[in-house]
Amino acid sequence: MKAQVSLKHLFRVFTKPEDEDSALTQIEKHLSDDILDFLSQHVVTRPISLEDIEKVFSATSVPESPEFVSDLAEHLREDLVAHSVNTYSPKFIGHMTSALPYFHLSLAKLLVGLNQNPVKIETSKAFTPLERQVLGMLHHLIFDQQDAFYDTYLHSANHALGAFCSGGTVANITALWVARNRRLGPSEGFSGVGRAGLHAAYRHYGIQNLGLLSSRRGHYSLGKAIDLLGIGREQMLTLPCPGQTLDPEMALKAGKAYQDAGNDLLALVGVAGTTETGHIDPLDELADVAKELGCWFHVDAAWGGATLFSTSYRDKLSGIEKADSVTMDAHKQMYVPMGAGMVLFKQPESANAVRHHAQYILRQGSKDLGSTTLEGSRNGMAMMVYASLRIFGRQGYQLLIDQCIEKAQLFADMIQRHPDFELITQPTLSILTYRVIPEAAQQRIETLCEERKVRANALTDVLVRKVQKAQREAGQSFVSRTRLEVAKYGDTPITVFRVVLANPMTSNADLAAILAEQRQIAVAFEEWDALNTQDQAD
Ligand SMILES: *Cc1c(COP(=O)(O)O)cnc(C)c1O
Repeated sequence: MKAQVSLKHLFRVFTKPEDEDSALTQIEKHLSDDILDFLSQHVVTRPISLEDIEKVFSATSVPESPEFVSDLAEHLREDLVAHSVNTYSPKFIGHMTSALPYFHLSLAKLLVGLNQNPVKIETSKAFTPLERQVLGMLHHLIFDQQDAFYDTYLHSANHALGAFCSGGTVANITALWVARNRRLGPSEGFSGVGRAGLHAAYRHYGIQNLGLLSSRRGHYSLGKAIDLLGIGREQMLTLPCPGQTLDPEMALKAGKAYQDAGNDLLALVGVAGTTETGHIDPLDELADVAKELGCWFHVDAAWGGATLFSTSYRDKLSGIEKADSVTMDAHKQMYVPMGAGMVLFKQPESANAVRHHAQYILRQGSKDLGSTTLEGSRNGMAMMVYASLRIFGRQGYQLLIDQCIEKAQLFADMIQRHPDFELITQPTLSILTYRVIPEAAQQRIETLCEERKVRANALTDVLVRKVQKAQREAGQSFVSRTRLEVAKYGDTPITVFRVVLANPMTSNADLAAILAEQRQIAVAFEEWDALNTQDQAD
């Protein structure tokens, strides 16, 4: 049914609900009464292919006349919500996106209700000091400076302890943007890369190429960053890491060789919790390497940074305090809704390398956050981080982090004890990888010659891929998959299941059920039989 087109009716949309019993009100009520019940009733209600969903969303003309909110809500419930992913399910253990604490639902409503824009004080007022405080708390967590430091810099118009942004990608871009503008900053007769451009900067500083050094496990956002910054993806020195982390000696050697060839290094990036396997690079040693190479040291702790809340495990990140910049995503292990990334700068002056002023806002001397953020208008997400920090407290976060790590260790044991699964990477934090492979094949594969080993692995890759896909399509549980180079299997990467234990509600029984389901799916595929009888097949 179509709504009447008149301004009088449209104004009502801005002021009050057209109808208290509308479908949207019902959805909202159900969500706030019992979100798990809502999700189990309305999300993934039936298996449907993506192609069929695409057919529902294929109209390309802008709707001509208005529609009742209630009708739209019904459409969303049936065609969008029903075919979305239940990220709250305790058996959804494949990605970093997870269940959220209930209070975020009400806070989200407050956030949208207020519609503040922290790009400038004129549209956010108290949200600006609040955001600075959140950045200060995380700066303190990482760099642990004295009170006097925070007294001076937390609310200073001429400094920034970090930048709040939509996620780890923008945080990494911001960090490298600052690094670039500092490396190619203004000097005698040169206005700096930001004004003069990259070409002039390279000419002025006599630079042939500027490179970025990281391990192959670095996040793909680093590639986007140096593409965007004009440095070029070909200047990305990504080192293999058969030992799962970036080897400091290898990094030093590669960095020196690059410099000896007449190039300059922009930054060395250490990852604190790689996206694929959760490993942590040896940050303390890498900080020394960066120092020796004379380049910026950035730590990408988008996922793993929250480990700093745990006194039991924070030592795994030791050396992070030596970084020039650190990326953290509150929408990962801090259980904040999506859109909460941060980059923290050790030196409060660093961000001045990208400071920007405009006449109508971000004026000289103003405390507008927008003068040092890449993004312009954005929402007051810092409120969600602030609320979470207060509601959980450091101790609460420690409990959540610790139990995820311990559950990952327990799951790793479970996999190792199971005859038909092979643990591929031990969890450092709460990510692990493994694969399904029949017991007989697992024992045999060690003894095979190189050529036959590669063949057996290729067959196992197909099996793992098929099982992962079938499990996802069945809709009861979800693990992701990736391809990894593993020392014992040589240079050819193998396909593995990847598990991220992010949902505190995931039980040991859930984990056991996931393995049981995977095995049950696997035995039905021909690759299972082929692997079991490969002697005869060869
Ligand atoms: C998730 C992640 C990113 C990217 O963060 P987004 O919030 O998805 O943009 C970058 N680095 C690492 C290590 C990550 O885990």
